[in-house]
Amino acid sequence: MVITTYAECGKCHTRVIYPETPTGQRLPPVNFWPDPAGDMAVWQSDTGTWLGRFLAADEAPSVPAKRFGRHECQVTAELPGALLLWPSQARHH
Ligand SMILES: [Zn+2]
Repeated sequence: MVITTYAECGKCHTRVIYPETPTGQRLPPVNFWPDPAGDMAVWQSDTGTWLGRFLAADEAPSVPAKRFGRHECQVTAELPGALLLWPSQARHH
């Protein structure tokens, strides 16, 4: 079962995914749609949690992961570090 949960970027309202590593560490947001030029493997756990990890330069994601690209927000471009904020934190800006 695939649960299509996603978040909205707190700045530009683009659909994004906030994956975490299998050990629970937060990762930078990725755009909701798979991106062949991305550098992160992202997949969804049985419970709907988005998991991800960075890919090496010559590494391909293994099933069920797909390649996603990081959300490079034009709106936050002038705010260094803002991309690492979670939506609940970004609202305060
Ligand atoms: Zn954005």
